[in-house]
Order: sequence, then C-alpha cells, then structure tokens
Amino acid sequence: MSGFEIIKRSKKYSARQGKIMTPHGIVRTPNFMPIGTRGAVKLLSSQELKQAGVQIILANTYHLFFEPGIEVLKKFRGLGNFMKWPGPILTDSGGFQVFSLNEWRQVLDYGVRFHHPKTGKEIVLTPEKVIDLQKIIDSDIFMPLDECIPYDSSYKKAEKAVKRTICWAKQSKKAFRFRKQNRPLLFAIVQGGKFLDLRERCAKELINLDFDGYALGGLAVGEPFKETRRISKKIVSLLPSNKPRYLMGLGEPSQLVWAVLNGFDIFDCVLPTRNGRHGLIYIFKRLKKWRLEDLLKKKFYQKISIENSVFKNDKSPLDKKCGCFACQNYSRAYIHHLFKIKDPLGQRLAVIHNIYFYLELFKKMRELI
Ligand SMILES: [Zn+2]
Repeated sequence: MSGFEIIKRSKKYSARQGKIMTPHGIVRTPNFMPIGTRGAVKLLSSQELKQAGVQIILANTYHLFFEPGIEVLKKFRGLGNFMKWPGPILTDSGGFQVFSLNEWRQVLDYGVRFHHPKTGKEIVLTPEKVIDLQKIIDSDIFMPLDECIPYDSSYKKAEKAVKRTICWAKQSKKAFRFRKQNRPLLFAIVQGGKFLDLRERCAKELINLDFDGYALGGLAVGEPFKETRRISKKIVSLLPSNKPRYLMGLGEPSQLVWAVLNGFDIFDCVLPTRNGRHGLIYIFKRLKKWRLEDLLKKKFYQKISIENSVFKNDKSPLDKKCGCFACQNYSRAYIHHLFKIKDPLGQRLAVIHNIYFYLELFKKMRELI
C-alpha cells in the first residue's frame, strides 16, 4: 500500500529516516531527486541513473505536455515505460514553469491561460487538467497546479496567490481519484512568498485538506539562504510529522544537510547535473568520523573545476574513495582531456560522479539519523 512510514527519528535534530511507498517502488528518505524535466536526466540513461543509486526522479508536467506530448505518453502507458525508468517519478505540476517561462500567461481563477511556446496556440491549464496529465504520465507523486510568485512580490499579490493555490489544491484533490490501494500520492504546495503569516495560513488550510505530503514552494529561487531558512524553519514545524516534507529546488550540499536536520525529507535541484556539465565536480573532504553535527558545521566537501590545467597529468580518479562508474574507471587527466576536446563523454562522467556524490551524502545522512 502506498504511503509514508517513519523508521527512525534523530534524537538531537528534527531529522527523520523513513520510506515513501509508491506504485513503482520504495523511496528511502531523506533522499534526492535528479531532474529529468522532459523525461531525460540530461546526458544519462535510465540504467546509469539506477547504477548511480537513484531511487526517484523528477519530471515536469508542463514540459512533457509539449514534448513528447500526451499522445506519445498514452501510447507508452506512461513516462516510466517511455524512458525505461522502472522506479518512482515525481511530477512537478508546471506552475513554476508557466509563471517563469511564459510571458503571455494570464492567471485566472479557474487556471492559467498562455500561448504554446512554439506554435503560439492558446492553451488553458486547469488544476483538473494538470492532475489528468499526471495520470497519463503515470507519475508516483503528483503535484497540484499552484500559483508561484517571485520571492519579492508584494503582500497583496502573495495573498491572492495563496488563495488561488488553496482553491486549486482543493480542486486537484477532487480530480485525484484512484480506486486501487497502491495508488500514487498527491502532495500540496505551500506558497506565500516572503510573508510568514501568509505561509502559515496556506500551510494550515492545506493541512486541513489532508494531502499525502507537503511541499514548500517558491523558495530557493534566488533569495539569500538566510531567508530560505527563516521561512522553511517556521513552516516545517507546522507540517504534520507523519507526512513527507519536500523542500523544492534546494540546493547546495551544505544547505541540504541543514534542511534534512530541520525535518525535510525530499529534494530536487539542478546543481549536480548542471555543475557536472560545466566541469564542476563535488568531492568529499576526508573527515575522521562522519557525524551529523560535522556535516552541519564543517565544510565537508569541495568543488573542483576539472578543466583546470593542474589536472592535465593527474592519474588519480575524481575522488579516490568514490564508487561511481567514472571514478572506478577513469583518471582526472582523461576527464580533463575530454572537456578540453569538448567530447560529451567528459560531461557524462562528471554528471554521473556528481549524482553519485549527492546520493552518497543522503545515504550517509540516513545512516547517521
Ligand atoms: Zn565518482
């Protein structure tokens, strides 16, 4: 049966170790989702993701709606079959994308109206339609359509967005109907910009509606991290402790540690993949002993730029202690060379390593909780 179970709670912190049961398998928490917006975690195959230890990936309803489109996804009976990814998928609704990418959008009480990015055709997305699309994608964790506003929006604008987000969440819940017990999960998204009272109101109303999990949206969008901390620390304390909590869009490994220790369970971020493509590699520092407080207080990792000429003759792997495919097989010198000659294999190896690094960090945190 699908749901969430807490296995262990940290004595010192609010961190929890748990598992999310979904139709396509179990996700151990805390955990990290690599981003496969359009049904591809850039440069990597589904087999490589599995091999790197990935348990769940994130895809985006808005983008998949355009490419490959509904007909293809229907034909394949879902994105997992299409991309040969056997595990769980969380689908972001696309609210954020509609608001950030589409200049011609119009927010109406019943949904959003915008122009197709390529054909210019008018499209309307309603909360119900977004749920139906996620059914076609055969997602494991659905996100409802929400109104995502810039972090520095005015109180009035934020308040209006909160009202809509709550209203759309209600409609989404109505449209989300499954008879089978092993059904997907539906999360709700807490919005409210930088205003704590609005965030609190939004959280409380959504909790009353009883969702399978709760996400914090509209953060990690460029605001200073101390702001992210201020909002998320307060809101996480209001969220039910028996439901998974998702902090959307965070972030740097040190930020993720902070969020896990404050009670968040799942995360997604472009950093490991995007940085990898740019030759920026995450490497653990050698700590004598791994303890949660050290991860929180000490600099436990560094980033190196593999394109730097100091690696030209370096026979060691990216990280001597790393078990990833790249480190097991290739030297820094070779990956440096691949970046120099702009062969995509270099980027692939860097991304494989970075994803492995992120997942190792989460594995370590799970063991330490
Ligand atoms: Zn590695």
